[in-house]
Amino acid sequence: MKNYTIYIITFLLLTAFQTKAEKPTIVATASMFSDMAKNIAGDKMNIELIVPVGGDPHLYKPTPKDAKMVVNADLILQNGLTFEGWLGELIEHSGTKAATVLVTEGINPIKSLTYDSPDPHAWMDARNGLKYIENIKNGIVALDPANKDFYEKNYSAYRIEIEELDEYIQKEIAKIPAAQRILITSHDAFQYYGRRYGIQLESVLGVSTDADVQTQDLLHLIEVIKKSKVPAIFTETTINPKQMEQIAKDNGVVVGGSLYADSIGKPGTDGDSYIDMLKANTDKIVAGLTRKASEQIAPTASGGFSWATILIGLLLVGAMAFMFSKMNR
Ligand SMILES: [Zn+2]
Repeated sequence: MKNYTIYIITFLLLTAFQTKAEKPTIVATASMFSDMAKNIAGDKMNIELIVPVGGDPHLYKPTPKDAKMVVNADLILQNGLTFEGWLGELIEHSGTKAATVLVTEGINPIKSLTYDSPDPHAWMDARNGLKYIENIKNGIVALDPANKDFYEKNYSAYRIEIEELDEYIQKEIAKIPAAQRILITSHDAFQYYGRRYGIQLESVLGVSTDADVQTQDLLHLIEVIKKSKVPAIFTETTINPKQMEQIAKDNGVVVGGSLYADSIGKPGTDGDSYIDMLKANTDKIVAGLTRKASEQIAPTASGGFSWATILIGLLLVGAMAFMFSKMNR
């Protein structure tokens, strides 16, 4: 009899462990999508992330650990639109059988101004966020139809929160005087945000972060700052802020804060979820761009050695060298 009880306990324990192991696994490329998936799947699925929070998905190099993660996945969440150029190879080499959900399915993509490719940052428009979560929810339900009602309920509640977020951003951006609605950041991640909420965008880098800064773009940016008299420019949490800080210093504007572009914030920060990242960005943008002229700071005294001056100087030297080489022919 005693043996019999042990058998039953062992059996129960084994089944318990088995059900735990059978929990489906979702692998997301970036933290915005893993956060969305958590909101819908709750604790019924394991949710894993390839590019860690705070990492830069444009420049990411997959590790052997990622290949293992992808092999064990049941569902992979991918943004597409050139965001994760490294994913195709990772999936192919790992030989995973996982289904892939293109979370941007059905979104009208913006064409990059600098490259002949689509702009990947579609999540910056909260209405696109609604499309993302619909695609994720459909993928989750297809993976585990038995719990459809649970996922649908979570999805509906989450949907309302994102709709409210969209209204909040519109209402807040409207507080910025029209002439000051210019958002200057490190890389071109805010075009969708600008199109939806009515802000003009300028950045030092293009839609990706892997290019070098072009002198021409830098000079253009400085001209925009001077002409528009914007009170603040912004850094990004996933990009080294040094350059933007220097531009701000040279041009007598402040850095209005660090914005979340390609990753949510670390746990405990003001942007540690998809909803909070857009909300925190909006609050920083509104606070920065509604600063009064009296709050402006003077350009640095060392203006003679500013970036712009050095660059213009270099351009002149280059032009003169070119002219001399022509003359000597
Ligand atoms: Zn980006």
